[in-house]
Amino acid sequence: MRAIIIQRKKIEDVDLSKFQDVWIVAEIKDSKIRNVSFELLGKAKDLASELNQKTCVVLIGDNVKRFSEEFAKRGADRIYVAEHEALKNYYTGTYSAVITGIISKYNPNIVLYPATINGRDLAPRVAANIRLGLTADCTGLSIHDGLLLQTRPAFGGNIMADIICPTTRPQMATVRPNVMEQASIQENGNVEIIEVPVKVDLQGLKVKTTEVISGTAAECGIPVCEADTIVSGGRGVGSKENFKLIEDLANVLNAAVGASRAAVDLGWIPKSQQVGQSGNTVSPKIYIACGISGTIQHLVGMKSSDIIIAINKDPEATIFSVANYGIVGDLCEVIPLLTKALKEKLSQN
Ligand SMILES: Cc1cc2nc3c(=O)[nH]c(=O)nc-3n(C[C@H](O)[C@H](O)[C@H](O)COP(=O)(O)OP(=O)(O)OC[C@H]3O[C@@H](n4cnc5c(N)ncnc54)[C@H](O)[C@@H]3O)c2cc1C
Repeated sequence: MRAIIIQRKKIEDVDLSKFQDVWIVAEIKDSKIRNVSFELLGKAKDLASELNQKTCVVLIGDNVKRFSEEFAKRGADRIYVAEHEALKNYYTGTYSAVITGIISKYNPNIVLYPATINGRDLAPRVAANIRLGLTADCTGLSIHDGLLLQTRPAFGGNIMADIICPTTRPQMATVRPNVMEQASIQENGNVEIIEVPVKVDLQGLKVKTTEVISGTAAECGIPVCEADTIVSGGRGVGSKENFKLIEDLANVLNAAVGASRAAVDLGWIPKSQQVGQSGNTVSPKIYIACGISGTIQHLVGMKSSDIIIAINKDPEATIFSVANYGIVGDLCEVIPLLTKALKEKLSQN
């Protein structure tokens, strides 16, 4: 805390009082609201209630108004709907132009974006458009003296930095999926809907999406952030070839393949699958940790999983302290037996 303070001269005097409400930019994928949108809403509601302001959702896309009810049920006060056929697929140019327009017109106090592939692309472009800062990849958000305190790992995860924006508005942050709790469903969902007119020069677009090709899980792997089940391997897996054991078990369970940083650093699996402080934060229903010791940097990324199963040959391994079920043994023996048994069991159902 307070290791480094960077102070810059105030650029101009901004009347902060005209910036009100806490917004989230929702993400829709494959005609479904991504869970991270409800996580952002949950956090936005807490912040808004502390500031005594409204919680608002920006819905952007083609034919997206139909998702309003889902946010209303979860406690949104107002929804800005920006619909246009040109917004059917995400594209930085169109999305950032529309969001910039809505922000400039309605002056929010805080805007939260998901730290997904699209959100990480969109938020900096919007920030650049309105010449503001942005705190990327926040793991914590709170209100301190009326300001948004944005907490994120810095210097490779060695320190947690608290960032505030005292002189500019809106205060903007991207938030990692699976970190915040989802807004729960409430009974009465009174919501104000504002339909924002969208004008897009279809001829003037530099990029046009002609086709979206989604791969199957078997072809391109399930992203760890979105998986209900994850089978993760660590240094104890022993080699890149042995990672096939992890993949076989994952395939039987239709699970994502995850890894510790040690396994990533050894080049056994891509960084995109890393779980932990400097990788992904995950919260699946089942997390199977194979040959992972359970250092704090790994645990912070997976400890909120519903059920944790650990396979490790060391009975003293820290991972067993967070595991619901533990198997002490050599993973090269245990995993093939487990995979075989599950395959048989699942083929009977
Ligand atoms: C700033 C910073 C950020 C970091 N971020 C991350 C992060 O995001 N994610 C992350 O994972 N780490 C991260 N780390 C690294 C972390 O500190 C550990 O080094 C790493 O998690 C260890 O990975 P591991 O558990 O696979 O390896 P090890 O700690 O070496 O553990 C290997 C385990 O495998 C077991 N084993 C060995 N052989 C077998 C076998 N045949 N069968 C069964 N078990 C076996 C051993 O008993 C041991 O428990 C970070 C470190 C720093 C300093």
